[in-house]
Amino acid sequence: MRIAVAKEIEVCERRVALNPDTVARLVKQGLEVWVEAGAGERSFFDDAAYVAAGATIVGDAGKLWGETDVLLKVSPPQEREDGRLEIDLLREGAVLISFLNPLGNPVVAQQLVNRKVTALSMELIPRTTRAQSMDALSSQASLAGYKAVLIAAAALPKYFPMLTTAAGTIAPAKVFIMGAGVAGLQAIATARRLGAVVEAFDIRPAVKEEVQSLGAKFVEVKLEEETTAQGGYAKEISEASKQRTQEVVAEHVKNSDVVITTAQVPGRKAPVLVTAEMVAQMKPGSVIVDLAAEQGGNCACTEPGKDIVWNGVTIIGPINLPSSMPVHASQLYSKNLTSLLQLLIKDKALQVDFTDDIIDAACITHAGEIRNQRVKDALQ
Ligand code: NAD
Repeated sequence: MRIAVAKEIEVCERRVALNPDTVARLVKQGLEVWVEAGAGERSFFDDAAYVAAGATIVGDAGKLWGETDVLLKVSPPQEREDGRLEIDLLREGAVLISFLNPLGNPVVAQQLVNRKVTALSMELIPRTTRAQSMDALSSQASLAGYKAVLIAAAALPKYFPMLTTAAGTIAPAKVFIMGAGVAGLQAIATARRLGAVVEAFDIRPAVKEEVQSLGAKFVEVKLEEETTAQGGYAKEISEASKQRTQEVVAEHVKNSDVVITTAQVPGRKAPVLVTAEMVAQMKPGSVIVDLAAEQGGNCACTEPGKDIVWNGVTIIGPINLPSSMPVHASQLYSKNLTSLLQLLIKDKALQVDFTDDIIDAACITHAGEIRNQRVKDALQ
C-alpha cells in the first residue's frame, strides 16, 4: 500500500503532513511512502532526511497524486498554478486526509464527490478521549495559544513579569484570555510562565477549574441558558446573554495590558467579544491578539492578517499561527495522521470501516456521495 505526502502550495503554509520520523515508522510497518520533492523544505526537513527514513522522493506532482492509495496534506487542496484542481490529480477511489474546511468552504466536498474520492477531514475528528491522539485541531490550537502570547509580549511596550530592580519595581502585566478552550488554556499557561497576572473568561462554566489550576482567575458570568453544546463545544448564546457578558467583560478588557481572544463556535462566524467601545476604553500601548481573525474576529476592529493601531491599541489578527512553528506543528500533525492511519490500515491494506465512530465522523465523501449532513446543508 502506498502513502504519499504532498508539497503544500498554499503560500502561507509552511507545515508538512509527515515528518521524517513518522515516515520511518510507517516504512517499518511495511508501507510504501512517497514524498513530493521539497515537501518538507519549509519545515526544515530536507529530501535527504526522507530518503534516509525510507521514502521515495517524487518530483512530478501529477504522478504522486495520481498513483497513490492515500494522499496526506495539511491545507485544503486548491487550484494549482496551471489552473487544474489538486483534487483532480487524484485517481478515483483514492483516500485524501487533510484539513478540508468542509463547513467553511463546502464546494471542496462537491469537487471530491465528482472525483469519487474518499476524504477524511481533520477538522471533523471527534473530540473524544479515544480520538485524542488524532485530534489535530487540539495539537495545532495549542501551538497558536502559545505563539499568541509571545506575539503579544513582543508588541507590548512593557515587561510581562514583576521585577524588583535597583532602579525600581516593575508591576506585572495584566493579561485577559477570552475563550478557555485548547488555545486559551495554553495561552494562560504561557502568560503565567512569563510572569503575567492572568484572568480568563469563557461562557462554558466547566472550564473554571482548569483555568484556576493554571494559576489564573476565572471571570464568571452567570447566564440563564445552557452554553455547552454536544461534544463540549460552546453554543451560540442569545442577544440578552451576549449583552450580559459584554457588561461584565468590558471592565476586565479596560484594565488589561493584553487581551487574547480565542472564542469560536464551530461552523459559524466567530462571536464579537471585544467591541470598538471596549477598545476605546483600553490604555494606549495595550495589545489585542485575535486568534479568531480568520473566522471574522472576536474583536470588532480586527483586520485578518494585519497588525493595526486603533486609538493607541495594537490589534493583531494573525492567520495560520501554527504554520509559524512548522517543525513542531508538523511533528504533532504527523502523529495525529499516523494515529488515524492505524485505524484505516489493516494487514497493510486499506479498510474504511464506517462502524468506527472516528472514521464515520471524519469521512465527508465516499463512493461519489457526501456522507456528512452538516456539509450537505452547508452546500445548499
Ligand atoms: P473552540 O476553538 O471551538 O473555542 C474556543 C473557546 O471559546 C471554547 O472554550 C469556547 O467555549 C469559547 N467560546 C465560544 N464562544 C464564546 C463566547 N461567546 N464567549 C466566551 N467564550 C466563548 O474550542 P476548542 O478549544 O476547540 O474546544 C472545544 C471543546 O472540545 C471543548 O469542550 C474542549 O474541552 C473539548 N475538547 C475535548 C478533547 C477531548 O476530550 N479529547 C480534546 C480537545 C477539546
